[in-house]
Amino acid sequence: MELYLDANATTPVLPQARAAALAAMAEEYGNPSSTHGSGLRARALLDRVRDTARRVLAVPTGELLFTSGATEGIQTAVLSALVALRQREAAGQALPRRLLYGATEHKAVPSALRHWNALLGLDLDVQAIPVDREGRHDLAWLRTQAQDAGLVCTMAANNETGVVSDLDGIAAALAGSPALWLVDGVQALGKLPLKLVERRIDYAPFSGHKLYAPKGIGLLYVREGAPLTPLQAGGGQEGGLRAGTENMAGIAALGAVLEALASGTVFAPAPVLEARRQQLVAALREAFPGIVFNTPLGNSLPTTLNFSVPGVATARLLELFDAEGLRLSGGSACGAAQAQPSPVLQAMGLPAAQTTSAIRLSFGAADDAALTDEACARLRACGARLREEPEPVEVDLPIESLGGLLRAMPQARLIDVRDADERAAEPVPAGFAAEWPAMRAVPLPSLPALLAELRALPADTPVVFVCRSGARSARAARALRQQGHAAAWSLAGGLDRVAAAEAAASA
Ligand code: PLP
Repeated sequence: MELYLDANATTPVLPQARAAALAAMAEEYGNPSSTHGSGLRARALLDRVRDTARRVLAVPTGELLFTSGATEGIQTAVLSALVALRQREAAGQALPRRLLYGATEHKAVPSALRHWNALLGLDLDVQAIPVDREGRHDLAWLRTQAQDAGLVCTMAANNETGVVSDLDGIAAALAGSPALWLVDGVQALGKLPLKLVERRIDYAPFSGHKLYAPKGIGLLYVREGAPLTPLQAGGGQEGGLRAGTENMAGIAALGAVLEALASGTVFAPAPVLEARRQQLVAALREAFPGIVFNTPLGNSLPTTLNFSVPGVATARLLELFDAEGLRLSGGSACGAAQAQPSPVLQAMGLPAAQTTSAIRLSFGAADDAALTDEACARLRACGARLREEPEPVEVDLPIESLGGLLRAMPQARLIDVRDADERAAEPVPAGFAAEWPAMRAVPLPSLPALLAELRALPADTPVVFVCRSGARSARAARALRQQGHAAAWSLAGGLDRVAAAEAAASA
């Protein structure tokens, strides 16, 4: 049975949220803009959920808009702040010079800043606020730079490490600054009191799917008086601030989750979650004696652990966990396809031994104690397996060496071991495909027959396996070596690295 330990990527939908979504689709299916009975019932549901959200987030004032998720909320906030800056410029006022974001922010934030800064022609400096080894913002740096900033973006809690930001410290550092302040509340919702009004936070985006609501629903809080420019124009929904017929199923489900939060009966309280995390920490220490925790345990969400086992690559650890049915990740889900060290851990200045071996384990507040017990048992089993297995044979072939090898030995074989769906979804990068048209596709399940064929080749014929990240191709290369063919290799970093190199070359 699979054990899901990747709650910071997304969560399952709470049963009461599923029921609420189904009811909204089957019974309360009216359009909240209609003026007949069905529409009025849908409108009542919408208003009820917004009221609950205001109560849970403690925001009696300001706007609270339903969005498609946090990425949309971030766009709206950034667009709003930057349009206000442009209006100031048009009125002849001096513009601040920079836009600031925490160096460990979710990618949506710096991407949105760069996107709208370029699109609106503002040409402001987009700068990262440095963080220390424990992921804490450099408040002294912020204090000086914020005096000339138009917008400052700092997440409340980090999705990869669980590090909790010092929002009071940031608020103090922003004193006297003209900057608007965006706080990404995605990972903090339901876990930390954000005090949005007291701290004078201007914008706070939230996402339903990180807290047991479905994907595609979110919230954006905008402080009363803060600039607000609609991202979408249309039929006037959400008071004209976010057009488009509302996602009523998602809103109903989010409402059920917020009710569950308010009731205090569905989600385990912080001390219980912390005790479960300590249980996992103890199991991990036992399983991997060399373990290093990248999450500062004293200042992080009680549901998140980021750790490294120096000397054991992330891909290898994920393979071990996967074999035990443990669903963990190497970092954020959006970065999962890149097979590169996490930018969050790099921004914290962690050494390569840690960044190349990092794993994120995150569980949810609605998980039960039995999940933690079972996870601990399986983590111990993974540790035992790592100790029993011989050190894997080094088969990585750097991309820089591939051309030389293949050109020197034209009889060499290049084999893509990804399955057909994966190949269809992510075609071989164009430059690579053009350079090596003879690459064969043989999915991993057909490997035994392929190995029998390859074994018969002259012993010095290079065979290079390729996959997305380099993990499965390494397994294939080791299997061929075990069968006596020493010239078996795996393209290091896989096609992801090739794609990244091609993208960088064409940028
Ligand atoms: N901000 C943080 C901290 C996140 O973890 C995520 C999700 O990965 C997002 C923003 C984006 O949220 P959404 O998936 O709702 O667009």
